[in-house]
Amino acid sequence: MMNNESYYKEAMDKDKSMGRTSPVDMKKQIFCNRTLNMKSIIAVGFDMDYTLAQYKSETFETMAYHGTVKKLVYDLGYPKELLQWNFDWNYMVRGLVLDKRRGNFLKMDRHKYVKLAYHGFSELPRQERSATYGNSPFQQAYDEPDYALIDTLFSLAEAYLFAQLVEFIDEYPEKIPPAARAKSDGELSIPFNFSQVYKDIRAAVDLCHRDGTLKQAVAEQPSKYIHFDPLLLPMLKMLRESGRLTFIVTNSLWDYTNVVMSYLCRNSELDKINSSNFDWLNYFDLVITGSAKPGFFAEEKRCGFFEVDISSGMLMNTDNGTPLPQVGDVDFRRFSASKNGIKQPCRVFQGGKVQHLHRLLGIESGSQVLYIGDHIYGDILRSKKKPGWRTMLVIPELEQELELFHQTIPTRKELRLLREKRDIIEDQIEQLNFDIRSSKYSDDNHKAALSKKEGLEAERDRIRDLHRDILRKCHVKFHETWGQLMQTGYQSSRFANQVERFACLYTSQVTNLCYYSTEKSFRTTEDFMPHELKSLEI
Ligand code: IMP
Ligand code: MG
Repeated sequence: MMNNESYYKEAMDKDKSMGRTSPVDMKKQIFCNRTLNMKSIIAVGFDMDYTLAQYKSETFETMAYHGTVKKLVYDLGYPKELLQWNFDWNYMVRGLVLDKRRGNFLKMDRHKYVKLAYHGFSELPRQERSATYGNSPFQQAYDEPDYALIDTLFSLAEAYLFAQLVEFIDEYPEKIPPAARAKSDGELSIPFNFSQVYKDIRAAVDLCHRDGTLKQAVAEQPSKYIHFDPLLLPMLKMLRESGRLTFIVTNSLWDYTNVVMSYLCRNSELDKINSSNFDWLNYFDLVITGSAKPGFFAEEKRCGFFEVDISSGMLMNTDNGTPLPQVGDVDFRRFSASKNGIKQPCRVFQGGKVQHLHRLLGIESGSQVLYIGDHIYGDILRSKKKPGWRTMLVIPELEQELELFHQTIPTRKELRLLREKRDIIEDQIEQLNFDIRSSKYSDDNHKAALSKKEGLEAERDRIRDLHRDILRKCHVKFHETWGQLMQTGYQSSRFANQVERFACLYTSQVTNLCYYSTEKSFRTTEDFMPHELKSLEI
């Protein structure tokens, strides 16, 4: 069996043999927003869905899309022609904000300035975008209940369906069920308020997740819907051999968690899936299912905390995690994750709150825990703010983002030069304006100054248009409609800003941990203010 040092060495050797100078391939690197020394981490926790289990969007989200459409048609009375629609799983991206009332999709920068706005699939003209989102006397929060954030990959299908319905309703408002036809909203001066349609889609999606529509299909054929990652077991072994406790906190329930984890925790993709031996539990100290994150992290959460009987799936009462003596002959093993230094078998719970987990694992301070998840709000922000856990966000889109970023570096340099040129010309124009206004010139010189100004203005416009075109082309390389995930224009996007603020670490796949020593000290890059960047000419 390999220890962590040999995994690390193997990863380094592989990279060297591929001609890479850095020990870790850029696409597999872990990036650091807030310094984190792994030596201070005693427990590493994982979210399951879209963290340990990477779903295949082309099959899983397509199934969610069609399941949702069926529920809209058969349960909520939407027209049958929706059944013919198709899902483009590449169209929507994370980080967008959905304006439920207007049926618009917004991409904003880190100051919440709306840089791109689409109604359904049609781009709003600049003037309309500014009139709607740019001239508010107060900074809008763009939060619930009128706005929804597309912040998990689970939301891509519903967002796409919403865009399709917005376009459909604009053309055939009479075709949707009367209950979905919210009255026109005078206050917003919009002809149709799409909030109820969004609510219907949410209800339908919710049902798909709860009634077995999706989970049954995944259970029957996990390999069709979930990527198998051969590095998962080595990563878990490596963490455990280093003495770390490992746990899962997932919103999925036990039966589904068991199916997914039995599929993932195999040595090879060819190994048979056996979900009745529960072998995968050997890689964990504690599993909490049905955790109802983000509420799980809230101190005030009042909730039941049950132990799951893994064979029957039945729930048993606990007294805040301590086994309650059962009437009858149910056998409860006394549990402590590491009693007298000896690891105890993993046990599975449902519900509860973060304090239960701390007690069961013997965690004294939240900063001893590293939690890895995919949901910026439910997994990362909440676990960081309340119990003070250290966090790592998994962003699968990062691999492609990095690849394209690298390809576009020469274009970015060109863009920066163009911006600098434009700034210089604008300063010259301002100076001329000032001189002209203050009547500094004789008549002839005045004319010459005016003509010079005209020339400069034409040059500024040419550079501005050129810059806009090149920037657009650069963004389109990332995504035809939404551009680069982490940027908008040349500022960081709202999504990037959230990643920076809330995630201590971020990376493309959870198993990228394999490429680092378990004693690694992750350090941030140095922060620079704009004036410092200028001095350094970075
Ligand atoms: P986690 O990411 O491991 O915490 O688990 C996410 C769980 O939430 C999965 O079981 C999903 O099926 C479920 N889920 C995702 N979106 C929805 C929803 O809109 N309604 C209900 N359940 C959802
Ligand atoms: Mg998740």
